[in-house]
Amino acid sequence: MTRKESDNLKLAVISAVSRDQDLTGERRKDLSFSALLGNFVHLECTEEIAARHWKMIMDRRDFLSGVLGRSVSLYTAIADYCSEPGGPLAAPLLVEGTAFQDTVRQAMVDGLTGIFNRRYLDINLRKEYNRCERWGKSLSLCMIDIDNFKKINDTKGHPFGDQVLMRVATVLKNTVRDEDVLCRYGGEEFLVVLPETDEIGAMVLAKRLYAAARQDNFLSMHHVTFSAGLATYPDIKTADGLLAAADRALYQAKYNGKDQFVTAIPERRQFGRFPYTWSLSVIDDRTRKELSGVTTLNVSLGGVQFACAAPYHVDMPLHLVFRNELNGREEMVTDSRISWVKKMRENFLYGVRFEESPNPLRERLERLSSAAPERA
Ligand code: GH3
Ligand code: MG
Ligand code: MG
Repeated sequence: MTRKESDNLKLAVISAVSRDQDLTGERRKDLSFSALLGNFVHLECTEEIAARHWKMIMDRRDFLSGVLGRSVSLYTAIADYCSEPGGPLAAPLLVEGTAFQDTVRQAMVDGLTGIFNRRYLDINLRKEYNRCERWGKSLSLCMIDIDNFKKINDTKGHPFGDQVLMRVATVLKNTVRDEDVLCRYGGEEFLVVLPETDEIGAMVLAKRLYAAARQDNFLSMHHVTFSAGLATYPDIKTADGLLAAADRALYQAKYNGKDQFVTAIPERRQFGRFPYTWSLSVIDDRTRKELSGVTTLNVSLGGVQFACAAPYHVDMPLHLVFRNELNGREEMVTDSRISWVKKMRENFLYGVRFEESPNPLRERLERLSSAAPERA
Protein backbone atom coordinates (compact mmCIF):
# COMPACT_ATOMS: atom_id res chain seq x y z
CA MET A 1 0.00 0.00 0.00
CA THR A 2 1.44 3.39 -0.96
CA ARG A 3 1.49 6.26 1.50
CA LYS A 4 -1.32 7.97 -0.41
CA GLU A 5 -3.47 4.82 -0.44
CA SER A 6 -2.83 4.40 3.25
CA ASP A 7 -3.85 8.02 4.00
CA ASN A 8 -7.04 7.67 1.92
CA LEU A 9 -7.91 4.42 3.65
CA LYS A 10 -7.42 6.02 7.05
CA LEU A 11 -9.72 8.90 6.13
CA ALA A 12 -12.37 6.45 4.95
CA VAL A 13 -12.04 4.36 8.11
CA ILE A 14 -12.18 7.37 10.40
CA SER A 15 -15.23 8.68 8.61
CA ALA A 16 -16.96 5.25 8.84
CA VAL A 17 -15.99 4.82 12.49
CA SER A 18 -17.19 8.32 13.34
CA ARG A 19 -20.57 7.59 11.82
CA ASP A 20 -20.90 4.32 13.73
CA GLN A 21 -19.74 5.64 17.07
CA ASP A 22 -18.92 8.90 18.74
CA LEU A 23 -15.25 9.73 18.46
CA THR A 24 -15.54 13.36 19.48
CA GLY A 25 -12.77 14.59 21.72
CA GLU A 26 -10.24 12.17 20.26
CA ARG A 27 -7.51 13.56 18.08
CA ARG A 28 -8.60 11.69 15.00
CA LYS A 29 -5.55 12.37 12.86
CA ASP A 30 -3.35 10.71 15.51
CA LEU A 31 -5.38 7.50 15.50
CA SER A 32 -3.52 4.49 14.16
CA PHE A 33 -5.09 1.64 12.19
CA SER A 34 -4.45 -0.70 15.11
CA ALA A 35 -6.05 1.72 17.61
CA LEU A 36 -9.10 2.09 15.34
CA LEU A 37 -9.41 -1.67 15.06
CA GLY A 38 -8.99 -1.97 18.83
CA ASN A 39 -12.22 0.01 19.16
CA PHE A 40 -14.15 -2.96 17.87
CA VAL A 41 -12.03 -6.08 18.02
CA HIS A 42 -9.63 -7.13 20.75
CA LEU A 43 -6.84 -7.91 18.29
CA GLU A 44 -3.22 -6.93 18.86
CA CYS A 45 -1.51 -6.43 15.52
CA THR A 46 1.02 -4.28 13.72
CA GLU A 47 0.00 -1.19 11.79
CA GLU A 48 0.63 -2.95 8.50
CA ILE A 49 -1.62 -5.90 9.33
CA ALA A 50 -4.28 -3.61 10.85
CA ALA A 51 -4.31 -1.55 7.63
CA ARG A 52 -4.81 -4.74 5.61
CA HIS A 53 -7.74 -5.76 7.85
CA TRP A 54 -9.35 -2.36 7.44
CA LYS A 55 -9.06 -2.54 3.67
CA MET A 56 -10.86 -5.91 3.69
CA ILE A 57 -13.50 -4.67 6.17
CA MET A 58 -14.30 -1.60 4.06
CA ASP A 59 -14.53 -3.76 0.90
CA ARG A 60 -16.78 -6.19 2.77
CA ARG A 61 -19.05 -3.37 3.87
CA ASP A 62 -19.45 -2.13 0.28
CA PHE A 63 -20.12 -5.67 -0.93
CA LEU A 64 -22.76 -6.41 1.74
CA SER A 65 -24.44 -3.04 1.21
CA GLY A 66 -24.61 -3.77 -2.52
CA VAL A 67 -26.11 -7.27 -2.03
CA LEU A 68 -28.64 -6.19 0.59
CA GLY A 69 -29.55 -2.95 -1.11
CA ARG A 70 -29.18 -0.98 2.12
CA SER A 71 -26.39 0.57 4.12
CA VAL A 72 -24.67 -2.04 6.35
CA SER A 73 -23.17 -0.96 9.65
CA LEU A 74 -19.48 -1.15 10.30
CA TYR A 75 -20.16 -3.62 13.15
CA THR A 76 -21.88 -6.01 10.74
CA ALA A 77 -19.04 -5.78 8.21
CA ILE A 78 -16.42 -6.30 10.95
CA ALA A 79 -18.31 -9.26 12.41
CA ASP A 80 -18.75 -10.85 8.98
CA TYR A 81 -15.12 -10.34 7.98
CA CYS A 82 -13.54 -11.32 11.30
CA SER A 83 -15.64 -14.41 11.96
CA GLU A 84 -15.57 -16.08 8.55
CA PRO A 85 -13.63 -19.36 8.39
CA GLY A 86 -9.91 -18.52 8.33
CA GLY A 87 -10.63 -14.95 9.47
CA PRO A 88 -8.71 -13.19 12.24
CA LEU A 89 -11.02 -14.38 15.05
CA ALA A 90 -11.30 -18.13 15.68
CA ALA A 91 -14.13 -18.02 18.27
CA PRO A 92 -15.72 -14.57 18.29
CA LEU A 93 -18.08 -13.57 21.08
CA LEU A 94 -20.50 -10.69 21.15
CA VAL A 95 -20.40 -8.92 24.53
CA GLU A 96 -21.54 -5.66 26.03
CA GLY A 97 -18.67 -3.15 25.83
CA THR A 98 -18.71 -2.09 29.50
CA ALA A 99 -18.88 -5.69 30.74
CA PHE A 100 -15.94 -6.57 28.54
CA GLN A 101 -13.90 -3.60 29.78
CA ASP A 102 -14.63 -4.65 33.38
CA THR A 103 -13.36 -8.13 32.63
CA VAL A 104 -10.20 -6.75 30.99
CA ARG A 105 -9.64 -4.46 34.00
CA GLN A 106 -10.06 -7.33 36.45
CA ALA A 107 -7.51 -9.37 34.53
CA MET A 108 -5.01 -6.52 34.97
CA VAL A 109 -5.64 -5.78 38.65
CA ASP A 110 -4.35 -7.60 41.72
CA GLY A 111 -7.26 -8.94 43.78
CA LEU A 112 -5.77 -8.24 47.22
CA THR A 113 -4.33 -4.76 46.84
CA GLY A 114 -6.39 -3.33 43.97
CA ILE A 115 -3.29 -2.10 42.14
CA PHE A 116 -2.11 -3.37 38.75
CA ASN A 117 -0.70 -6.87 38.51
CA ARG A 118 2.40 -8.17 36.79
CA ARG A 119 0.55 -8.97 33.57
CA TYR A 120 -0.33 -5.32 33.19
CA LEU A 121 3.18 -4.28 34.10
CA ASP A 122 4.70 -6.44 31.38
CA ILE A 123 2.55 -4.71 28.76
CA ASN A 124 2.90 -1.23 30.21
CA LEU A 125 6.66 -1.34 30.80
CA ARG A 126 7.40 -2.29 27.21
CA LYS A 127 5.06 0.38 25.93
CA GLU A 128 6.62 3.05 28.15
CA TYR A 129 10.12 1.91 27.28
CA ASN A 130 9.42 2.17 23.55
CA ARG A 131 7.81 5.58 24.00
CA CYS A 132 10.66 7.01 26.09
CA GLU A 133 13.27 5.55 23.73
CA ARG A 134 11.49 7.01 20.69
CA TRP A 135 11.23 10.48 22.20
CA GLY A 136 14.64 10.46 23.87
CA LYS A 137 13.17 10.65 27.39
CA SER A 138 14.45 8.94 30.48
CA LEU A 139 12.53 6.19 32.26
CA SER A 140 13.10 4.84 35.75
CA LEU A 141 12.00 1.79 37.69
CA CYS A 142 11.69 1.48 41.44
CA MET A 143 11.51 -2.13 42.64
CA ILE A 144 10.34 -2.51 46.22
CA ASP A 145 10.42 -5.54 48.52
CA ILE A 146 9.00 -5.57 52.06
CA ASP A 147 11.68 -6.40 54.63
CA ASN A 148 11.37 -9.59 56.71
CA PHE A 149 7.87 -10.25 55.48
CA LYS A 150 8.12 -13.95 56.20
CA LYS A 151 8.64 -13.11 59.86
CA ILE A 152 5.59 -10.81 59.82
CA ASN A 153 3.50 -13.70 58.46
CA ASP A 154 5.04 -16.21 60.86
CA THR A 155 4.62 -14.16 64.00
CA LYS A 156 1.35 -12.35 63.33
CA GLY A 157 -0.40 -14.63 60.87
CA HIS A 158 -1.16 -14.59 57.18
CA PRO A 159 -4.27 -12.35 57.40
CA PHE A 160 -2.18 -9.72 59.15
CA GLY A 161 0.45 -10.12 56.40
CA ASP A 162 -2.32 -9.43 53.88
CA GLN A 163 -3.25 -6.29 55.81
CA VAL A 164 0.37 -5.12 55.64
CA LEU A 165 0.44 -5.72 51.89
CA MET A 166 -2.74 -3.69 51.44
CA ARG A 167 -1.45 -0.85 53.57
CA VAL A 168 1.92 -0.70 51.80
CA ALA A 169 0.11 -0.68 48.44
CA THR A 170 -2.12 2.18 49.61
CA VAL A 171 0.78 4.26 50.91
CA LEU A 172 2.73 3.72 47.67
CA LYS A 173 -0.32 4.51 45.56
CA ASN A 174 -1.01 7.73 47.44
CA THR A 175 2.59 8.85 47.04
CA VAL A 176 3.45 8.19 43.39
CA ARG A 177 2.45 10.67 40.67
CA ASP A 178 -0.64 10.09 38.53
CA GLU A 179 1.49 9.22 35.52
CA ASP A 180 3.53 6.63 37.43
CA VAL A 181 2.36 3.03 37.23
CA LEU A 182 2.38 1.02 40.44
CA CYS A 183 1.93 -2.72 40.37
CA ARG A 184 2.24 -5.75 42.60
CA TYR A 185 5.21 -7.48 41.04
CA GLY A 186 5.23 -10.62 43.18
CA GLY A 187 4.20 -11.78 46.67
CA GLU A 188 5.56 -8.85 48.71
CA GLU A 189 7.24 -7.03 45.85
CA PHE A 190 6.02 -3.89 44.12
CA LEU A 191 7.25 -2.07 41.08
CA VAL A 192 6.78 1.56 40.11
CA VAL A 193 7.32 2.57 36.48
CA LEU A 194 8.35 6.23 36.36
CA PRO A 195 7.98 7.65 32.84
CA GLU A 196 10.15 10.61 31.87
CA THR A 197 12.06 10.36 35.15
CA ASP A 198 15.85 10.46 35.40
CA GLU A 199 17.97 9.01 38.21
CA ILE A 200 17.62 12.12 40.33
CA GLY A 201 13.85 12.13 39.94
CA ALA A 202 13.78 8.44 40.87
CA MET A 203 15.75 9.16 44.04
CA VAL A 204 13.42 11.99 44.95
CA LEU A 205 10.46 9.62 44.50
CA ALA A 206 12.17 6.91 46.60
CA LYS A 207 12.80 9.38 49.41
CA ARG A 208 9.14 10.44 49.26
CA LEU A 209 8.06 6.80 49.54
CA TYR A 210 10.24 6.27 52.62
CA ALA A 211 8.98 9.45 54.23
CA ALA A 212 5.35 8.45 53.52
CA ALA A 213 5.88 4.99 55.03
CA ARG A 214 7.46 6.48 58.15
CA GLN A 215 4.55 8.88 58.54
CA ASP A 216 1.99 6.10 58.22
CA ASN A 217 0.72 5.11 61.67
CA PHE A 218 -0.01 1.50 60.86
CA LEU A 219 3.32 0.81 59.13
CA SER A 220 5.44 2.57 61.73
CA MET A 221 3.54 1.01 64.64
CA HIS A 222 4.29 -2.45 63.26
CA HIS A 223 7.84 -1.57 62.18
CA VAL A 224 7.12 -2.43 58.55
CA THR A 225 10.00 -1.33 56.31
CA PHE A 226 11.00 -2.03 52.73
CA SER A 227 14.06 -1.98 50.52
CA ALA A 228 14.21 -0.64 46.98
CA GLY A 229 16.33 -0.81 43.85
CA LEU A 230 16.30 1.97 41.25
CA ALA A 231 17.33 1.75 37.61
CA THR A 232 17.17 4.36 34.87
CA TYR A 233 17.12 4.38 31.05
CA PRO A 234 19.27 5.44 29.16
CA ASP A 235 21.97 4.46 31.69
CA ILE A 236 20.56 0.96 31.37
CA LYS A 237 19.08 -0.27 28.11
CA THR A 238 16.07 -2.49 27.35
CA ALA A 239 13.03 -3.14 29.52
CA ASP A 240 14.45 -6.45 30.73
CA GLY A 241 17.80 -4.78 31.43
CA LEU A 242 16.04 -2.23 33.63
CA LEU A 243 14.19 -4.95 35.54
CA ALA A 244 17.39 -6.91 36.06
CA ALA A 245 19.33 -3.82 37.16
CA ALA A 246 16.59 -2.73 39.60
CA ASP A 247 16.54 -6.26 40.99
CA ARG A 248 20.34 -6.25 41.49
CA ALA A 249 20.17 -2.85 43.18
CA LEU A 250 17.39 -4.16 45.43
CA TYR A 251 19.54 -7.14 46.35
CA GLN A 252 22.35 -4.72 47.20
CA ALA A 253 19.97 -2.70 49.42
CA LYS A 254 19.01 -5.90 51.28
CA TYR A 255 22.64 -6.85 51.63
CA ASN A 256 23.52 -3.43 52.98
CA GLY A 257 21.06 -3.77 55.84
CA LYS A 258 17.51 -3.26 54.39
CA ASP A 259 15.19 -0.24 54.91
CA GLN A 260 17.07 1.71 52.23
CA PHE A 261 17.35 2.12 48.48
CA VAL A 262 20.24 1.68 46.06
CA THR A 263 20.57 3.15 42.58
CA ALA A 264 21.91 0.87 39.85
CA ILE A 265 24.49 2.72 37.78
CA PRO A 266 26.34 0.75 35.13
CA GLU A 267 29.36 3.04 34.63
CA ARG A 268 32.66 1.41 35.43
CA ARG A 269 34.38 3.02 38.35
CA GLN A 270 37.48 2.69 40.38
CA PHE A 271 35.76 2.07 43.66
CA GLY A 272 32.69 0.19 44.79
CA ARG A 273 29.51 2.11 45.37
CA PHE A 274 27.60 2.39 48.59
CA PRO A 275 24.06 3.25 49.31
CA TYR A 276 23.37 6.72 50.45
CA THR A 277 22.92 6.62 54.20
CA TRP A 278 24.41 10.00 55.00
CA SER A 279 23.03 13.45 54.49
CA LEU A 280 25.60 15.63 52.83
CA SER A 281 26.30 19.34 53.09
CA VAL A 282 28.40 20.66 50.23
CA ILE A 283 30.24 23.87 51.03
CA ASP A 284 32.06 26.15 48.61
CA ASP A 285 35.60 26.13 50.03
CA ARG A 286 36.29 29.74 49.05
CA THR A 287 33.09 31.48 50.12
CA ARG A 288 32.32 28.94 52.89
CA LYS A 289 28.68 29.06 51.77
CA GLU A 290 26.65 25.88 51.54
CA LEU A 291 25.39 24.90 48.07
CA SER A 292 21.61 24.71 48.09
CA GLY A 293 19.32 22.06 46.64
CA VAL A 294 21.91 19.26 46.73
CA THR A 295 20.74 15.67 46.24
CA THR A 296 23.39 13.04 47.02
CA LEU A 297 23.33 10.19 44.53
CA ASN A 298 25.90 7.86 45.99
CA VAL A 299 29.11 7.57 47.92
CA SER A 300 32.13 5.52 46.93
CA LEU A 301 35.63 5.06 48.29
CA GLY A 302 36.86 7.65 45.84
CA GLY A 303 34.23 10.33 46.22
CA VAL A 304 30.57 11.21 45.87
CA GLN A 305 28.10 12.07 43.18
CA PHE A 306 25.56 14.78 43.80
CA ALA A 307 23.07 16.74 41.77
CA CYS A 308 21.93 20.33 42.04
CA ALA A 309 20.40 22.96 39.78
CA ALA A 310 23.29 25.47 39.88
CA PRO A 311 26.31 25.22 37.54
CA TYR A 312 29.80 24.86 39.03
CA HIS A 313 33.09 24.26 37.29
CA VAL A 314 35.48 21.32 37.27
CA ASP A 315 38.24 21.52 39.91
CA MET A 316 36.18 23.75 42.18
CA PRO A 317 37.31 23.01 45.77
CA LEU A 318 34.54 21.83 48.07
CA HIS A 319 34.22 21.04 51.70
CA LEU A 320 31.97 18.05 52.40
CA VAL A 321 30.20 17.45 55.69
CA PHE A 322 28.60 14.02 56.09
CA ARG A 323 25.91 13.58 58.68
CA ASN A 324 24.16 10.44 59.76
CA GLU A 325 20.79 10.67 58.05
CA LEU A 326 18.94 9.23 61.01
CA ASN A 327 20.40 11.11 63.98
CA GLY A 328 21.95 14.12 62.19
CA ARG A 329 25.33 13.51 63.84
CA GLU A 330 28.35 14.85 61.96
CA GLU A 331 30.32 11.80 60.83
CA MET A 332 33.04 13.17 58.61
CA VAL A 333 34.37 16.39 57.13
CA THR A 334 36.63 16.24 54.11
CA ASP A 335 38.07 18.38 51.33
CA SER A 336 37.36 17.46 47.75
CA ARG A 337 37.20 18.79 44.19
CA ILE A 338 34.69 18.54 41.38
CA SER A 339 36.20 16.14 38.86
CA TRP A 340 33.41 16.07 36.25
CA VAL A 341 30.10 17.72 35.46
CA LYS A 342 27.23 16.27 33.44
CA LYS A 343 24.27 18.40 32.32
CA MET A 344 20.97 16.67 33.03
CA ARG A 345 17.52 17.95 32.07
CA GLU A 346 16.97 20.29 35.00
CA ASN A 347 20.06 19.60 37.07
CA PHE A 348 23.79 19.27 36.87
CA LEU A 349 25.30 15.99 38.01
CA TYR A 350 28.68 16.33 39.72
CA GLY A 351 31.39 13.76 40.32
CA VAL A 352 33.46 14.81 43.33
CA ARG A 353 36.84 13.33 44.30
CA PHE A 354 37.94 13.16 47.95
CA GLU A 355 41.29 14.84 48.51
CA GLU A 356 41.98 13.63 52.01
CA SER A 357 42.73 10.25 53.42
CA PRO A 358 42.63 8.42 55.69
CA ASN A 359 39.54 9.49 57.53
CA PRO A 360 36.74 7.78 59.41
CA LEU A 361 34.42 7.59 56.43
CA ARG A 362 37.07 6.01 54.23
CA GLU A 363 37.77 3.44 56.90
CA ARG A 364 34.10 2.76 57.26
CA LEU A 365 33.68 2.53 53.50
CA GLU A 366 36.68 0.26 53.25
CA ARG A 367 35.22 -2.08 55.85
CA LEU A 368 31.96 -2.16 53.90
CA SER A 369 33.88 -2.63 50.67
CA SER A 370 35.69 -5.75 51.84
CA ALA A 371 32.37 -7.20 53.01
CA ALA A 372 30.33 -6.21 49.96
CA PRO A 373 29.65 -8.78 47.23
CA GLU A 374 30.94 -8.19 43.74
CA ARG A 375 28.56 -5.85 41.93
CA ALA A 376 27.25 -7.11 38.63
P1 GH3 B 1 13.66 -10.04 52.88
O1 GH3 B 1 13.70 -8.98 53.93
O2 GH3 B 1 15.01 -10.53 52.50
O3 GH3 B 1 12.86 -9.63 51.70
O4 GH3 B 1 12.93 -11.29 53.55
P2 GH3 B 1 11.41 -11.70 53.39
O5 GH3 B 1 11.05 -12.55 54.58
O6 GH3 B 1 10.55 -10.53 53.13
O7 GH3 B 1 11.45 -12.48 52.02
P3 GH3 B 1 10.93 -13.84 51.52
O8 GH3 B 1 10.94 -13.75 50.02
O9 GH3 B 1 11.71 -14.97 52.12
O10 GH3 B 1 9.44 -13.94 52.03
C1 GH3 B 1 8.37 -13.50 51.30
C2 GH3 B 1 7.13 -14.05 51.95
O11 GH3 B 1 5.97 -13.41 51.43
C3 GH3 B 1 6.95 -15.51 51.72
C4 GH3 B 1 5.45 -15.66 51.38
O12 GH3 B 1 4.86 -16.59 52.22
C5 GH3 B 1 4.89 -14.30 51.66
N1 GH3 B 1 3.78 -13.95 50.80
C6 GH3 B 1 3.76 -13.93 49.44
N2 GH3 B 1 2.55 -13.52 48.99
C7 GH3 B 1 1.76 -13.28 50.10
C8 GH3 B 1 0.41 -12.84 50.28
O13 GH3 B 1 -0.35 -12.59 49.34
N3 GH3 B 1 -0.02 -12.68 51.55
C9 GH3 B 1 0.79 -12.96 52.62
N4 GH3 B 1 0.30 -12.77 53.84
N5 GH3 B 1 2.06 -13.39 52.48
C10 GH3 B 1 2.55 -13.55 51.23
MG1 MG C 1 10.73 -11.00 48.09
MG1 MG D 1 10.86 -9.41 51.41
